[in-house]
Amino acid sequence: MPVRRSLLLLMLLIPGLCRAEDQLVRIGVLSHRGTEATLRMWSPTADYLSESISGYRFEIAPLKFNEVDPLVRFGQVDFLLVNPGIYVNMEVRYRVSRIATLNNLVGDVSNNVFGGVIFTRRDRDDIRELADLKGRRFMAVDETSLGGFQMAWREIKEKAGLDPYRDFSSLEFAEVHDRVVMAVREGRTDVGTVRTDILERMAAAGKIHLDEFKVLNRRHDRDFLFLLSTRLYPEWPFSKLQHTPNELAQRVAVALLNMPKNHPAGRAGNYAGWTVPLDYQPVHDLFRELKLPPYQDLGRFTLADAVRKYWYWLLGGLLFLLVMVFMTTWVFRLNRELARSKLRLEQQHDLILDSVADGIYGVDLEGNSTFVNRAMEEITGWKAGELIGRSQHELLHHTHSDGKPFPPEECPVYLTFRDDKPRFVSDDMFWKKDGTSFPVEYSCNPIRGEGGKTLGSVVVFRDISERKQAEEVARQHQMDLAHVARLSTMGEMASGIAHELNQPLTAIATNAHACVRMLEGGRGQHERCADVMERIGAQAERAGEIIRQLRQFVRKEPPERTRVNLNELIEEVLLLIQPEARRAGVRIDKDLDPAIRPVVAQHIQIDQVILNLVRNAIEAMLDMASGERRLTIQTRMGGQHAVIVTVSDTGPGLSEAIREQVFDPFITTKPEGMGLGLSISKGIIESHKGNLYVDASPGKGAVFRFTLPVEGEERNDG
Ligand code: ADP
Repeated sequence: MPVRRSLLLLMLLIPGLCRAEDQLVRIGVLSHRGTEATLRMWSPTADYLSESISGYRFEIAPLKFNEVDPLVRFGQVDFLLVNPGIYVNMEVRYRVSRIATLNNLVGDVSNNVFGGVIFTRRDRDDIRELADLKGRRFMAVDETSLGGFQMAWREIKEKAGLDPYRDFSSLEFAEVHDRVVMAVREGRTDVGTVRTDILERMAAAGKIHLDEFKVLNRRHDRDFLFLLSTRLYPEWPFSKLQHTPNELAQRVAVALLNMPKNHPAGRAGNYAGWTVPLDYQPVHDLFRELKLPPYQDLGRFTLADAVRKYWYWLLGGLLFLLVMVFMTTWVFRLNRELARSKLRLEQQHDLILDSVADGIYGVDLEGNSTFVNRAMEEITGWKAGELIGRSQHELLHHTHSDGKPFPPEECPVYLTFRDDKPRFVSDDMFWKKDGTSFPVEYSCNPIRGEGGKTLGSVVVFRDISERKQAEEVARQHQMDLAHVARLSTMGEMASGIAHELNQPLTAIATNAHACVRMLEGGRGQHERCADVMERIGAQAERAGEIIRQLRQFVRKEPPERTRVNLNELIEEVLLLIQPEARRAGVRIDKDLDPAIRPVVAQHIQIDQVILNLVRNAIEAMLDMASGERRLTIQTRMGGQHAVIVTVSDTGPGLSEAIREQVFDPFITTKPEGMGLGLSISKGIIESHKGNLYVDASPGKGAVFRFTLPVEGEERNDG
């Protein structure tokens, strides 16, 4: 820096002023009016301090606006004398602190406050107030000059709402105050601003005349005599840097405050001594309002600020985010896995449902179908889409097999979810889409949801047409077999029955002859003859009855079941068996309860069962060498629902071996027996929903017993 070098040279040349052992103290001074002027103005003050404070040698370092910051930052100066604007920046940034405030002197007037003047040429009639500045050329000293720009800016902004950077046609900075004044004067710019007292100084120096100019937004202050457009702000502060020792700073402050008002150093620097440091808050306020450094970020919260201030929250947030991302990914994967499993399960479920040969469908509480399987579609001819959501009863179940309507309130499927009890129906009918019907057996089970609440029913049904046909064929076979067995029995019984018929026929013949003789005698025998004729009639009726039974027994029976009284059936059978019993010397005891209720049965088949049991008993007793031959046939009600018929004898009974398999076909102990009688009888009774069994007999002899449900109970599926 050439200035510094020349200064040092100067000091070396003046040995009286320069003591080699003195410590050098540098005072950085803002050089707003040029380096030469600065040195001229302030070196006497440095000398004053060097003289006042022993052991130190003070020197002035003139600083341009842009040199202040780096030199302060790197501690290249020890004290700083700059305008208040730069000072507050340095205060905030580098903790520079003021130790005295300048008492400015212009002519004889001294001030420790100053402001800015906004002015134009007096002849500019088009510019009268700040609002007229819009679109004008504007010149200031420096962007960072407090009195030479910023004070005016604040005023223009507040009063006229203008932004110098946006609303002027040009904004120039002349760097030196005097140049601004000259530019306005010469019309190179429309409006200019400088700090207060510049105009007065230049006028005093004869450079300008004050009446050449017009001050805009003129303000008047009783204690402030210079032309003024803005608020007043404290004058330049003399400040120490952070590294400057406090003790030295204190000595400098004392020296400055002690400087007399008219000291030559003051006069050289155009000031009248120093005062205690003023409050620089107004300068801070100005910078805040203009959002200038150090307040450029005021109200603006940057990302960096946020990071600095809330780093732990950010870190926490970041960690939380990471955890969330991890969890979300995990949950997402889990979800995908679940969805896949669900799909697999559903497919499996559908596969199972569709592989079942039975029809399966679900019903909700409104009675509408909720799902159906493929077998159901195939069996009924309805498609799933046609069934789901529609009343199953109306589609499948509307009419009974006899053509009567089936009321929905009786539908077992609906009853199941109403009373919450499973049901099995062995014989019912469903209707197909084509209007035909088919026999079904089905089970209904309540569907229970979470908490056991019933949600509807599920029905599993089976088309039993084939089974019904097979049953019909089997029944037919059984009937045929029974018929054959009856014929064979009748064949065996033929001679006995013929003998039985012989008796009435012989009696009829004998009586007829007697009657003829009586009539031929003609002697009032008419009455006796009428008696004989009556006997003939009775014998003929008895013979006719036997023949009718015989015919009934050998004919093929129609399949209808009728209402029969078992006591009557027993009487009919005994009529046929009587000759055989008599021949075998067997006494037949009847113990028939007249109170038994009728049963619905195939008349001749039940006759056949009774005949079988009675004949077996007679045959068993026939082989007995001694002992009573008695057969008892008994009827009783078995509770309310069945009639029990018991055939017991006093024969040899059944050996243990034969007892186990007595109802199996072809089991016989008789030389000419076929072993079919009991097997056929058991088939007949069971097809009537009854039971045939051998009872454990208390004494000797065998006890066979069968039950038949009374009328109205035989349909009960149990
Ligand atoms: P079958 O009379 O042609 O032998 P059944 O099936 O009627 O055929 O009888 C099978 C067998 O059961 C008879 O051979 C006989 O041994 C035995 N059985 C049937 N009823 C009686 C009875 N009341 N007492 C003793 N044994 C009997």
